[in-house]
Amino acid sequence: MSGKRASLRYTDAHCHAHEIPEGELAAYQDEFEVVLAVSDDLESSLRTVALAKKFKHIKASVGVHPWSLEETNVEEQLRGLERLVAESEVVCIGEIGLDRAFTPHTIEKQLVVFRRLLQLAKDYDLPVNLHAAKTWKQVLDEVSAHGIKRALFHWYSGPPEVLTEISARRYLISINPTVKANKKHLGVAKQAPLQILTFESDGPYVYRGMALKPTLIPETLKLIARVRNLDIQELAATANENLFRFLGI
Ligand SMILES: [Zn+2]
Repeated sequence: MSGKRASLRYTDAHCHAHEIPEGELAAYQDEFEVVLAVSDDLESSLRTVALAKKFKHIKASVGVHPWSLEETNVEEQLRGLERLVAESEVVCIGEIGLDRAFTPHTIEKQLVVFRRLLQLAKDYDLPVNLHAAKTWKQVLDEVSAHGIKRALFHWYSGPPEVLTEISARRYLISINPTVKANKKHLGVAKQAPLQILTFESDGPYVYRGMALKPTLIPETLKLIARVRNLDIQELAATANENLFRFLGI
């Protein structure tokens, strides 16, 4: 863990690779050892699995995002995902979860889908990549109740007491490049125990004019290493190890 590791590459714990052009994804290979590619619905899950087949650094996570439920035939989506997990090289279930901030009107449908996908993760002993906007505690309780061993709360900006419980359960969180502009998220990145930290882009999402992408991760690590008085290489290595443990690779 000590000394210079010139060859150390980064990891991205949450990226919507299905929305990124293949040429760009290929270019990430030099700098990134693993990009965990999350999906939004059945169609993007199929695309993600195809990308993981093509690129060694891309790992496939499949799921239905809580924002994707407006006019969806849920049963068709879930059956398709169950087939995909059974037949393909899938290493994680996500992006899944609950959202009372942006889509509170579909919360009942969200809960049905979320529980089915947690059960799928449990059946195949897969980790889950979670979206929990204004539902941090509820998502944590659902995940624990389903006996899920490996969970990652993406872009964590929930309350400190939930963070303590996440840590006690040996779950993970991911820190997003928006720490640069968001004090609350920066506070989380400063205080969270190192053994639960990973870094993500959530690319290609645009947040308050900031176009998120994996290439912002090195400067995010640099910022957190500086405020925590850590060596950037060590912080990167720890985050990588956390993600590899989560994925079982
Ligand atoms: Zn996302």
